[in-house]
Amino acid sequence: MKLHMQILIALGLGIKRNWHIFFGIILGILVGIFLHGHEYPLVSTVLTFIGQVFIRLIQMVVIPLVVSAIVIGITSIGDNKQLGKFGTKMIVYYGIITTVAVIIGAALALIMKPGIGAAHYIAENTASEVQASVATAMAQQQGNILNIFLGFIPNNPMHSFAAGDMVPIIVFVVIFAVALAKVGDVNRPIVSFFESVFAATMKITDWIMYVAAPGVFALTASAVSSFGIDIFTSISKYLLVLFIGFMLQLCVVYPLFLKFFSKVNIGILYSAVAEAMMVAFGTASSSATLPLTIACCEKRGISHKIASFVLPLGATLNMDGTALLQTVAVIFLAQAYGVALTPFLIIEICLLAIIASSTCAGIPGAGLITIALILNGMGLSPEQLVAGFAFLFTIERVTDMMRTLVNVTSDAVVVAAIADNENEINYDLFNNPAAYEDIA
Ligand code: ASP
Repeated sequence: MKLHMQILIALGLGIKRNWHIFFGIILGILVGIFLHGHEYPLVSTVLTFIGQVFIRLIQMVVIPLVVSAIVIGITSIGDNKQLGKFGTKMIVYYGIITTVAVIIGAALALIMKPGIGAAHYIAENTASEVQASVATAMAQQQGNILNIFLGFIPNNPMHSFAAGDMVPIIVFVVIFAVALAKVGDVNRPIVSFFESVFAATMKITDWIMYVAAPGVFALTASAVSSFGIDIFTSISKYLLVLFIGFMLQLCVVYPLFLKFFSKVNIGILYSAVAEAMMVAFGTASSSATLPLTIACCEKRGISHKIASFVLPLGATLNMDGTALLQTVAVIFLAQAYGVALTPFLIIEICLLAIIASSTCAGIPGAGLITIALILNGMGLSPEQLVAGFAFLFTIERVTDMMRTLVNVTSDAVVVAAIADNENEINYDLFNNPAAYEDIA
């Protein structure tokens, strides 16, 4: 074999898997840009196939993983007092991060005014193929908020399991696990059973990660090829607002949050969870990334007790990236259609974005469906509502990838802060980058 090939292969095998996935994303963006506007049906079919193989494999382990993680997490925390303390802290931390996200989103959208003069390109870029999705999304969000919450209580958990509805599943499993914790030692057979399930699903996650780089490459390439870069020029201001908002969360809010509430070093945390962040970007799904988020955190010293309780709940409840996007998107449409943005309306948008984001599942596109909850009360005409919504759908995937990366990162930030506060983080492992190698 030629020397340069040997060097390339050695480099390929030698560098960390993080870099493989990173190169997968970059290559995916380049290939996607190239493919846009060209007709290569075979290439698109192959890319879709590879991407779907990866997503389906990773989704395959989510339900057993969530169930086993929550059961082990809650039963190992044991007494009610401690559980209440962790739970309250988790909700307060997630609440702080999401509130800051909507404030940033609203402030940026009001200062940069991305929607002014945007009505014409909303009409131009409103693809007719998305009309069906729009109709479904709007229908799903009809009715009041109470009905939405009612839907979270599963009247038949088996049905929720079969349908993969994460929020009702989590509600059921949390109640079940608290009951198990209450009944004492008699729970041992079930808890041991779930300990085995958890260990096996983690092993499967390790195996699946061998196809993460090609999977993320294929997903990114097909996403980018579907809209190309021309869309960026026509709505650059809207995307710029989102990008700045997400960067502020990642580079200012999370570091300050960790400084304020813990002694966790943000750089080390980001390097520990880099793989999960990139997979979140590629898959646009916090739930699908969950197995990896748990693996990254635990391998670097965050206790199983905390990670297995806080992360599954975070992957469904904590959606600060989504909340930021929803705030910006709604203010953008209001500006485009000349709706008067009174202080009262802005506060209402922010509050509804916090609710709408935390009621959405960690799957691709969920945030756009729950945005209907906010848009319905905006006073837009039915035509404007449909056009505005359809426009958001047209540029959905790229914004979904960005906001999911933010959602998953904040899950990791909050779990690290709680673990630090509760002395549940092993700093020898946390500060040792080589520890990550263990995961493979
Ligand atoms: N895709 C996002 C997530 O999984 C949810 C959303 O659509 O905003 O975190």
